[in-house]
Amino acid sequence: MERQALQRAKEAFLSGRTRPVEFRLQQLHALQRMITEKETEISTALKQDINRSQYDTPLLELIGIENEIKLAIEKLAEWAAPRPVEKNLLTISDEVYIQPEPLGVVLIIGAWNYPWAVTLQPLVGAIAAGNAAVVKPSELSEYSSLLLRALLPRYLDKELYPVVTGGVSETQELLKLRFDHVFYTGGSTVGKLVMEAAARHLTPVTLELGGKSPCYIDKDCDVRIACRRITWGKFVNCGQTCIAPDYILCEPCIQGRVVECIRQTLLEFYGADPKCSPDYSRIINQRHFNRVMGLMEGYTPVVGGQSDASQRYIAPTVLKDVPPHSRMMQEEIFGPLLPIVTVSDMDDAIRFINEREKPLALYIFCSDKKAVKRMIEETSSGGVTVNDVMMHYTLSSLPFGGVGQSGMGRYHGKHTFDQLSHQRACLVRSLGMERVNLARYPPQDRRRKKYTKKFFLIFALLFGQRTFNEWSRALLPR
Ligand code: NAD
Repeated sequence: MERQALQRAKEAFLSGRTRPVEFRLQQLHALQRMITEKETEISTALKQDINRSQYDTPLLELIGIENEIKLAIEKLAEWAAPRPVEKNLLTISDEVYIQPEPLGVVLIIGAWNYPWAVTLQPLVGAIAAGNAAVVKPSELSEYSSLLLRALLPRYLDKELYPVVTGGVSETQELLKLRFDHVFYTGGSTVGKLVMEAAARHLTPVTLELGGKSPCYIDKDCDVRIACRRITWGKFVNCGQTCIAPDYILCEPCIQGRVVECIRQTLLEFYGADPKCSPDYSRIINQRHFNRVMGLMEGYTPVVGGQSDASQRYIAPTVLKDVPPHSRMMQEEIFGPLLPIVTVSDMDDAIRFINEREKPLALYIFCSDKKAVKRMIEETSSGGVTVNDVMMHYTLSSLPFGGVGQSGMGRYHGKHTFDQLSHQRACLVRSLGMERVNLARYPPQDRRRKKYTKKFFLIFALLFGQRTFNEWSRALLPR
């Protein structure tokens, strides 16, 4: 099944039909039609998978995909065109350009938390760049996965963009095969397996991983507004968002106010009992429910803490004075628990962040522009949003991706197109002006030296002394 899917995609790719930009545009329009026509089915599948609110699905997944498609349609001719670059003296009369070209067949492996965004956004770039793609959605978001398998072949070329469903063994089978690029979204443990498997074929990888994204609140900022934004970003999708703020860093003097502001905001967002709120999601499965509950063991939450295993419900929960070396602070939480760790000042916060793995995102709430600049300069993360959370993700102009343990490679907008293209170096010369080449051919005798010097002197008059020095140094026999 997996092998056949790849074989068919490869043959379709080799037929050359993805090469014309018109074909790619037609596929992108079809994908856009699919999203528009099937929005209700997609929202229903996500309701079944994760109890996602029907209002959140367009906002959190579909608008982003549609924007990516629209941008690709608008810019494709420009992205796919040859990109002229600077020439040197020896190629002054030649054509020199970078030609983006398709890689071949891309394997897209998606995670379950935003199952449409993490598979279709890379697919948009794969189609735009002229690739074929085998799409492997996560088995954990089962309804979405089956719907994607049913829908995609109804709208897109069946051979070029097959969907392979199934679990770990199917993904492992796929990873044994030779693709031209693997685009993986998920946790870092599996990320390592993906990279290992790809290395066997020397296949390049993009790894969109996760990690613990810190959120620093400065004591002088508007704590009430900061907490509203953080509460939204942390608890949307029940905390199962790769760029959700994982934990808060703040000075002890504002910790109590932070807790109160989050408590008030939760009441406003989800009512007195979030379990009854149509806007509050559930944990994806029992294993993850047990994992998140395990992280809470030994702590007394200051907000929330209630749970119901039969519904995989965990209330939005806040924990204060969490020790930096506790288990909750070692692994990505990926659930609705928000620990607060106190630091003595911004320097201490910077130190705290730098002592840990580079995160996928960093959030800074602070009104002092100089301090913000310093914090950005003195830390590292995949992306940063200041005075808000997650919003950098919404900009197609910004590359989205991790650094260090939070991933490698980037995507969104043109970045996806470039990530899934080969940047081919092209130099097109003519067979004329052969005498110019004498400088590099043997035998390098005195007569040749004299001639070459004369030649470069003429060029120096035309193009300047610097060019002459550079080239005579490089090419003249000493
Ligand atoms: P998951 O369990 O759905 O796994 C992701 C994919 O890996 C699935 O398609 C699955 O079939 C495959 N897989 C699982 N185990 C495997 C194995 N042993 N061998 C081969 N393939 C295997 O998703 P997850 O890992 O639980 O996803 C959550 C993680 O993803 C979090 O860490 C989150 O931060 C990260 N994430 C990152 C982004 C991003 O854009 N950077 C987006 C969403 C999620």
